[in-house]
Amino acid sequence: MQFDLKQFLHNGREPWRQSFTVDFGGADFPGYSVDEPVSVEFAAYPGEADVELVLKVESQVCASCARCLAPVRQPVCFERRWLIRPSDPDSEEFELPLAENGALDLDELAYQELVLEVEPVLLCSPDCQGLCPVCGQPKAAGCACQRQAGDDAPADARLSILKQLLQ
Ligand SMILES: [Zn+2]
Ligand SMILES: [Zn+2]
Repeated sequence: MQFDLKQFLHNGREPWRQSFTVDFGGADFPGYSVDEPVSVEFAAYPGEADVELVLKVESQVCASCARCLAPVRQPVCFERRWLIRPSDPDSEEFELPLAENGALDLDELAYQELVLEVEPVLLCSPDCQGLCPVCGQPKAAGCACQRQAGDDAPADARLSILKQLLQ
């Protein structure tokens, strides 16, 4: 989806709105994927001396928990606003993605902002206890090595033999 930003900056009189979905299934994200189509709402509002752009993104991010590797599915929804003056797109510091024809590339804009929005470390829950360093099972499930009192647990049995040897 494209939006003719330069044209709108010069003679946009009425608000311009567009809702669409983008498929980022094949796109490259740092440490996660976005398998479901992303809902994007974009609007441009002409002002006295500038144009206000509003971008709303609703997405689902898929990853593995950074601590226990369990699959994580996290909704990521956010809104961004920019005030653009007519001279801005010609500036070298202009950060919004312009296509070759000078139009704003809205798919690319949604991608850029999504990458900025998603947390660098995703967890299955904020208090995920991670994996047991002994058996590699999720600690939350309560692995055998954590049941200290259980005499029949093999890890405990080995430990008690080791203790006897050390005495
Ligand atoms: Zn986890
Ligand atoms: Zn364990």
